[in-house]
Amino acid sequence: MTSLHIGIAGAGLAGRTLAWRLLRAGCRVTLFDARPRAALDTASMTAAAMLSPLAELAVSDDAVFALGQRSMVLWPRWIAELAEGGGAPVYFRQKGTLVVAHAPDQSSLEHFTRLLQHKLPDACRAQVHTLDAAALAAQEPALAGRFGGGLFLDSEGQLANDQWMAALAIEIDRLGGQWHEGQAVERLEEGRIVCADATHAVDVAVDARGVGSKGQWPAVRGVRGEVLRVECPGVTLQRPVRLMHPRYALYVAPRPDHQFVVGATELESEDNGPVTLRSTLELGSALYSLHPAFGEARVLRLSAALRPALDDHRPAVVLRGGVWHINGLYRHGYLCAPAVVDELAHKLLGTESKEAT
Ligand SMILES: Cc1cc2nc3c(=O)[nH]c(=O)nc-3n(C[C@H](O)[C@H](O)[C@H](O)COP(=O)(O)OP(=O)(O)OC[C@H]3O[C@@H](n4cnc5c(N)ncnc54)[C@H](O)[C@@H]3O)c2cc1C
Repeated sequence: MTSLHIGIAGAGLAGRTLAWRLLRAGCRVTLFDARPRAALDTASMTAAAMLSPLAELAVSDDAVFALGQRSMVLWPRWIAELAEGGGAPVYFRQKGTLVVAHAPDQSSLEHFTRLLQHKLPDACRAQVHTLDAAALAAQEPALAGRFGGGLFLDSEGQLANDQWMAALAIEIDRLGGQWHEGQAVERLEEGRIVCADATHAVDVAVDARGVGSKGQWPAVRGVRGEVLRVECPGVTLQRPVRLMHPRYALYVAPRPDHQFVVGATELESEDNGPVTLRSTLELGSALYSLHPAFGEARVLRLSAALRPALDDHRPAVVLRGGVWHINGLYRHGYLCAPAVVDELAHKLLGTESKEAT
């Protein structure tokens, strides 16, 4: 046990998960966030939270793949540990991902399949299965007769990010974490967190502000993403479905209570304003084309946020000028968070990084 006092700027997925792991390890933790804890306009609250090491390999590299594979082992363990505190369970499923394309877009699916086979380590190739129409219907009865076939990526998962974030907040309170909500951090220095009205002394300062770190780390950039959330009792999906398309590749991720998250656009823009009409049409059309019963879906929410990215599109845990940074989670934050947070927690605690905190 240690009485190290760690100050964390940013209570998104990275900062909040790190705070929880450090509190469990016996640290004193103070969190600062410019927003209230339930704010919806962050990347962490907007994400679909699909855990897709295989599907994401098409747009990432082996470093992200390795972090994702390690995180897939840690997620169920961490979700179980979080529940030990007595909080509400977090929705987590590991039933794979389906990848489909309409007949005119088959070449997009073929390209995706080839890319995956090219990039996947030999040992993981058996996790990719080609399905004919009958096998697809057996996996996902709601899509019977709608596609000539598809790909099944087994062992991929998803979680309800809103439940994860809410459960962490409750557990951080229970474990005695101090939380300054609505408190913007101006800058971090070695052993100091500087806000407009006060400077807070800590043993170690950690910057987990996502795109908010840009002033202190100019290489961080925001990549705009938009999602649509609907409720549709008429359709049941067991797992996320990715729809390949030459212009935009979109997905539909099922959530509890007949809700679905449809996403996501990816725009090289730091505009975090409301979702555009064009994106609404693209997301809605993709959903409707997956199954016409989605025509009656009720729109619950349209949201946009900035993914914090670095040039190599890999998550980073680095010490810069006496301040630890955890950033660059980009489109893989949920996929990689346990491995990345675990790495930083061990660095701060000075313990072996092979052992999970
Ligand atoms: C549309 C969309 C879909 C996504 N889908 C997936 C997916 O399916 N799977 C997956 O793995 N990942 C997905 N992601 C990526 C994932 O959401 C992000 O990688 C992750 O949430 C980043 O977490 P973070 O904590 O680093 O940043 P953020 O969520 O941006 O959190 C940063 C926090 O810092 C606070 N902050 C900022 N500035 C200051 C300041 N000056 N002072 C104090 N606090 C400050 C903010 O209020 C915020 O709470 C998606 C992202 C988006 C936008």
